Amino acid sequence: MEPMDAQEFRRLGYQLVDWIADYRENLERLPVMSQAQPGEIRAAFPDHPPQHGGRMDQALAALERDVMPGITHWNHPSFFAYFPSNTSYSSILGDLAASGLGAQGMSWQTSPAATEVEEVVMDWLRQMVGLSPAFTGVIHDTASTATFTALLCARERASDYAQDTEGLQSGEAPLVVYASDQGHSSIEKAALLAGFGRSFLRLIPTDENHAIRLDLLQAAIEKDVEIGLRPCALVAAVGTTGTTALDPVAALADLAEKHGMWLHVDAALAGTAMVLPECRWMWAGIERADSLVFNPHKWMGVGFDLSAYYVRDPQHLIRVMSTNPSYLRTAQDGQVSNFRDWHIQLGRRFRALKLWFYLMDVGVEGLQQRLRRDLENAQWLQAQVDATPDWERLAPVPLQTVCIRHLKPGLDEAALAAHNLGLARRVNDSGKAYLTPSLLKGRQMLRVSIGAETTERRHVEALWAALLEAAR
Ligand SMILES: *Cc1c(COP(=O)(O)O)cnc(C)c1O
Repeated sequence: MEPMDAQEFRRLGYQLVDWIADYRENLERLPVMSQAQPGEIRAAFPDHPPQHGGRMDQALAALERDVMPGITHWNHPSFFAYFPSNTSYSSILGDLAASGLGAQGMSWQTSPAATEVEEVVMDWLRQMVGLSPAFTGVIHDTASTATFTALLCARERASDYAQDTEGLQSGEAPLVVYASDQGHSSIEKAALLAGFGRSFLRLIPTDENHAIRLDLLQAAIEKDVEIGLRPCALVAAVGTTGTTALDPVAALADLAEKHGMWLHVDAALAGTAMVLPECRWMWAGIERADSLVFNPHKWMGVGFDLSAYYVRDPQHLIRVMSTNPSYLRTAQDGQVSNFRDWHIQLGRRFRALKLWFYLMDVGVEGLQQRLRRDLENAQWLQAQVDATPDWERLAPVPLQTVCIRHLKPGLDEAALAAHNLGLARRVNDSGKAYLTPSLLKGRQMLRVSIGAETTERRHVEALWAALLEAAR
């Protein structure tokens, strides 16, 4: 059996595109969260691989029958969980084109367009979020990888490229990393993987708005210096995952500068908001960061995975990340970017296509309109919560995430937690909406993250009605 030919690809391909469009058009009728039980999806599949091919029609039928029950619908208009992960039609088409080309973009020469289109769209994106040309961008798979890369660059800058000699074994003063206790788990993971060690990772407590406490950060740094440690990196969260809290970037930049620390800004969700000029105060001081990351694969509309990593000094990044064995060297190396040297992995997909298609489809104004819609929806929900007795809002709402809980009278903290967890379960199990129950400094909250591309006001109204009903 040969792999399918072009004619068969056309037949199945058109069928699959129709299937995707039908799926998207009918999304609203599906339960948002998958109702599958553990093992249920696996049980529908044979234990052994097919010995004979030619079964693509069966695969497409099984996709509908056996796979779909195990899908949680992230593009559903009533998806309010985690953070949005929008994948526009145009982005799907860009991904399809990239897969169709099947080209590797590890070096400029392995497909010059993969590098140059990426340079163009990353520069467009830079302009869109109001960053100066001092920043150069590269596409990473995820914010986690970009933050890991940033900490590696910080480590190497502080150690004068110890990787070229004794690395972490050189016995110099231990290097310390600072972030807030509301920072994303990927920061902790990156610090540990980069070899700093948990003993030299400081997760600083946060204030009543869940932003890093500057006084405590400063005290921690001074204490570390006093005992002979070396402050190395500071990770600012602009839009924490818990509550979209905003660390004060400018003040952190002052501290970073004073102590020679690398300043990395994790704006995974919030970076997209900077497409709106009225939101840029949220990361004031960003121009002084050494690196920053945000995820067009979250709120924007470019399908997972596409993370935008911007650095001030690409030469430093390249020096840390490059290996440059002889078989990868090419004649043009002096004149072009070889993106294999800008991140951890070697091979890379032509991800820039989906970002390009997306921007060509919506334009800056189209995106701005949708983001403003989502911000207004969050403000509407915040107003309802604030105006309703026995409901509490646990954090400010600078962006599109609203953190709340129901204060059922007469319950202590433990009972309140169980009660709110029960509310979330009832709403999620109903299939009508999906939100994330989450702990915030010991309090059980209902975290409503608005911003699926399809979410209109009526969906937020329906969620609020469902919450009120469940609480009754
Ligand atoms: C989602 C998120 C991340 C992780 O993003 P990935 O791209 O999935 O690695 C990191 N930081 C923050 C603040 C996030 O919200």
